[in-house]
Amino acid sequence: MKFEVLHTFSAARAGILKFGDIEVATPVFMPVATNATVKAVPHLFLKEMGYELILSNTFHLMLRPGEDVIKRFGGLHRFMGWEGAILTDSGGFQVFSISGRSITDEGVLFKSPIDGSKILLTPERVMRFQNVLGSNIAMVLDECTKPYIPYEEAKEAVERTLKWSMECKKVHTREDQALFGIVQGALYEELRKLSVFKTLEIGFDGYAIGGLSVGERFDETLRILDVVLPLLPFEAPRYFMGLGTPELILEAVERGVDMFDCVYPTRVGRHGVAMTWKGKLNMRSAAYKEDKNPIDERCGCYTCRNFSRAYIHHLITRKEVTGMTLLTIHNLWFMKEFMQEMRESILKGMFSRFKEEVLSSWCKPTVEVM
Ligand SMILES: [Zn+2]
Repeated sequence: MKFEVLHTFSAARAGILKFGDIEVATPVFMPVATNATVKAVPHLFLKEMGYELILSNTFHLMLRPGEDVIKRFGGLHRFMGWEGAILTDSGGFQVFSISGRSITDEGVLFKSPIDGSKILLTPERVMRFQNVLGSNIAMVLDECTKPYIPYEEAKEAVERTLKWSMECKKVHTREDQALFGIVQGALYEELRKLSVFKTLEIGFDGYAIGGLSVGERFDETLRILDVVLPLLPFEAPRYFMGLGTPELILEAVERGVDMFDCVYPTRVGRHGVAMTWKGKLNMRSAAYKEDKNPIDERCGCYTCRNFSRAYIHHLITRKEVTGMTLLTIHNLWFMKEFMQEMRESILKGMFSRFKEEVLSSWCKPTVEVM
């Protein structure tokens, strides 16, 4: 992986990530392909939209189809037939949301949600599996905490994440796979700083900010970003894990974040919500029952080129899978266009104006936990 910042507007960056022949313009939004597919959307559409980097989940793939199957295919790219680049998370976020898990310095012990068997997720196991997956970017195992926890608890999670990060780096051997460290520390500025300094000491190809957008107030998300981002090295990519609403992406990009992922655009799409430049539309509304217009006249996606609001309304209210597919395609197209126009505005020195325009048409920023 190679990364280059091409242009800045204050702290905002327009750059390029390279994985061999694959080039990804940043800031980038990565669609989430939890089970080795972006839900409801065949790869063909992602390619047509210009997505070259998607995110898949180590935890889910470890449970099913499992290491042996992926090995037999020679990696995740071949298993899922995806020619673009893939980032795999470490499974930390998923494991910590399972009830009844126990965490020790060794790893996380939890019951398999499939057959109830006990599974110990260690840094070594997470890295070994990501090596088998052969993703272009692997993530270290981290302990993701809730935002409002006591200081001592947050400190322990930071220390454990650092210990695991070191172990992950030791086990990571693939030269064709980048490895990202993860900054934790809940909402404590001192812990965030400690986490950054120690993670930088270990040294990674890129740096992720974890444990944010997990239910905290919006002003607190920004307060922590303001502490963390200036401390990260200019030349390495910065990734805000789990953020995917335009109004929050704008704030994070303004502060220097390069990479994002979130289930938001795909999940709300499957539930009948269309993202547009004028805000969100609920396609379930009876107001669209006879509407011959496309979802968004400005939009060039497959859905808007071919179908009316009335048809989408019909499919979604009839719970047709095709309706979910068409709305997900539209939302991912919107996100792609949104990121592209934002990047253009950085390159042209017009970012502030772009941000103002988008925020005036979208609702007041809130952190939505999906
Ligand atoms: Zn569209």
